Amino acid sequence: MHHAFEDRVRFVLVEPSHAGNIGAAARAMKTMGFSRLALVKPCRYNSYECYARASGANDVLDGATSHEFLHEAIADCSMVLGTSARERTLSWPVEPLRETAERCRALPDSQQIAIVFGRERSGLTNEELGLCGAQLTIPSSDSFSSLNLAAAVQVVAYELRCASLANVSSHGDSEPDRDEPANHQDLERFHAHLQAVMEQTGFLDPDQPRLLVPRVRRLFARAELKVSEVQLLRGFLSSIERARRESSDK
Ligand code: SAH
Repeated sequence: MHHAFEDRVRFVLVEPSHAGNIGAAARAMKTMGFSRLALVKPCRYNSYECYARASGANDVLDGATSHEFLHEAIADCSMVLGTSARERTLSWPVEPLRETAERCRALPDSQQIAIVFGRERSGLTNEELGLCGAQLTIPSSDSFSSLNLAAAVQVVAYELRCASLANVSSHGDSEPDRDEPANHQDLERFHAHLQAVMEQTGFLDPDQPRLLVPRVRRLFARAELKVSEVQLLRGFLSSIERARRESSDK
């Protein structure tokens, strides 16, 4: 079965003890396009506070699955990431959150992904982290590193969404050839044309070029010109040449 990325990511909360956090986590997920919530030994969450904090993400709460043990909640997942604040870093490999998010996004679309969050008070046990293939850490302040559970869910969901959106735009309608980046040869011809016009107008003294040429080259290198933009600039240069010819013909 093949599913959209958002439907393959499961947010697993281990023994959350505040119903409000469960609701807030559901809201955080839904704002970023995620809906699959798994709860391991949760507190009672069928409460006013939980639904109030969910603020309309009731479908996420109502669809949440409950499990006795963490391994049950993640059994079908090929990528399992345990979240933990920096201070608790153990021997698990820690890679930057953004790279982890991109790695999740790049998994084949038959694969299920779980992001595991710990208890408000004590986080995940070493044994639970051991069930995870990698550790995921939000790069928070060294001196105050522990986020509220739902806030941590929000940050991770946001990074996953950014990874997902970046991929959609890079696979969008391929742009017409004119808007491909200009190649080396096009750029060299443009620079030759630009220098010729600069010399014609007297702006560039070929006997004393100083740093003008490298500076201009650096400026345009930074712009990463497209084919159509090089054409536009060369059109402008040609118009200067024409105007000069016409005024000298008079
Ligand atoms: N004192 C606990 C803090 C738990 S905070 C501890 O030492 O772990 C509740 C949960 O929020 C954590 O288990 C983790 O899942 C998540 N979380 C909080 N801060 C985080 C951070 N900086 N990076 C990643 N996850 C974090």
